[in-house]
Amino acid sequence: MSDGKQPDEPVADVPGRPGRDAVVIGGGLAGITAALALADAGIRVTLIEGRPRLGGLAFSFQRGELTVDNGQHVYLRCCTAYRWFLDRIEGTALAPLQDRLDVPVLDVDKPEGRRLGRLRRDALPVPLHLGRSLATYPHLSLAERAKVGRAALALKGLDLADPTLDTQDFGSWLTAHGQSARAVEALWDLVGVATLNAVAGDASLGLAAMVFKTGLLSDPGAADIGWARVPLGELHDRLARKALDSTGVRTEVRTRVTSISTDENGRWSVQVPGETLQADAVVLAVPQREAHDLLPAGALDAPEQLLDIGTAPILNVHVVYDRKVLNRPFFAALGTPVQWVFDRTDASGLREGQYLALSQSAAHDEIDEPVGALRERYLPELERLLPGTRGAEVMDFFVTRERTATFAPVPGVGRLRPGARTKAPGLYLAGAWTATGWPATMESAVRSGVSAADAALSALGRPRPSHLFEFEEAA
Ligand SMILES: Cc1cc2nc3c(=O)[nH]c(=O)nc-3n(C[C@H](O)[C@H](O)[C@H](O)COP(=O)(O)OP(=O)(O)OC[C@H]3O[C@@H](n4cnc5c(N)ncnc54)[C@H](O)[C@@H]3O)c2cc1C
Repeated sequence: MSDGKQPDEPVADVPGRPGRDAVVIGGGLAGITAALALADAGIRVTLIEGRPRLGGLAFSFQRGELTVDNGQHVYLRCCTAYRWFLDRIEGTALAPLQDRLDVPVLDVDKPEGRRLGRLRRDALPVPLHLGRSLATYPHLSLAERAKVGRAALALKGLDLADPTLDTQDFGSWLTAHGQSARAVEALWDLVGVATLNAVAGDASLGLAAMVFKTGLLSDPGAADIGWARVPLGELHDRLARKALDSTGVRTEVRTRVTSISTDENGRWSVQVPGETLQADAVVLAVPQREAHDLLPAGALDAPEQLLDIGTAPILNVHVVYDRKVLNRPFFAALGTPVQWVFDRTDASGLREGQYLALSQSAAHDEIDEPVGALRERYLPELERLLPGTRGAEVMDFFVTRERTATFAPVPGVGRLRPGARTKAPGLYLAGAWTATGWPATMESAVRSGVSAADAALSALGRPRPSHLFEFEEAA
């Protein structure tokens, strides 16, 4: 094991001294965060990741000269924990935020042809910051726009601490609040499907209210969008690894944990092929199904509930054209199966032509479709959306499929999500699927990692690192 820099109050290297060693299992954003937080507090940390790289569900791979993200990832200004994480790994400049929320929304299902609208904010206070944009949003009628405003105010009034919100679905709530099918499609689902990975009718009102209240109805800049201008692997693998190394974390990739258990003194043993790691604290930062399989008996009251947390897919369709066909960094689409389109050219290292990635959330119907069928569907749709594609040659077309991209944010999921603490002393849970209050996002993953580290540090009697992400006070 390597000893490295331990910023806050290093622990003396006394053999057998309790409270010194932690193992974090899973090198996604939750596990990386927990490992950094524990190491920053002077704990000696080993991070174990089964795959050859860190970053979990948000990663990159090489396809010829192209560096491809498994799926387009964005975050919002209100994602304060993920922004803290970017700072901690010195990646903030590589994933900047828009100055102001500005989403071009292109509708191709109009008699007059294509029509561009924009969802953008002003410098005015909430909720007026979106007032002008909503008042001129061309994809809704005047009456629909007025009703959207009223529903937004009703949403703002919901108490996120009310557990009954999680028993209702967002779609029914929208209907009950006067929202037409068109308003759901052109506004609520446009934002909701991308952030929740479910259409309104399949989404918990609690999670939807959380997203819309936090993103659109809290602070004027809360929904400004940020995304990586480099491959995700540059942030979540290379820079994360650099931060872990310089904090003294021992990181082992290509190493799967096969079991965890405690001895009679309450010390943990973490089994990996060829080695047993001893630890005073273990953070299990793996997906819910793997967590269920690794949890020792008695660690949760109802461990089988983890298996009831469903999953939802995201499909990304990647198209490389021989020329520039899109003049914006991204846009959202209506009247077509295409959802969000991003220009990935610079980030991927492509030197000629343009590389577009289509991010298709809640892709239950398409996730297993053959590439040929997807190609036949999406290339003509791109021609409808982007006239410049009509004479362009498609140099490459491929898809990436993440069948378990997120947990399914269905009504009732809230009571299935466990917190960081388990009933087994010294064993903690992390992962975007745990009880963070957020949908399955990078923000949720980082928050869960901080919560798990907080719980472990308090049990180990170690002070919290002064620069660790601070949770906001509940309103
Ligand atoms: C295509 C796609 C698009 C997305 N878009 C967005 C977006 O725009 N914005 C956003 O905020 N979020 C987005 N997300 C969600 C986001 O990526 C995840 O919520 C987040 O990365 C989850 O992090 P995690 O650490 O909780 O879990 P994971 O990333 O799943 O990490 C768990 C890790 O544990 C490892 N592991 C499992 N079992 C073992 C074992 N036995 N031993 C060792 N290691 C093990 C796994 O290999 C994995 O690396 C998207 C996800 C996908 C797939």
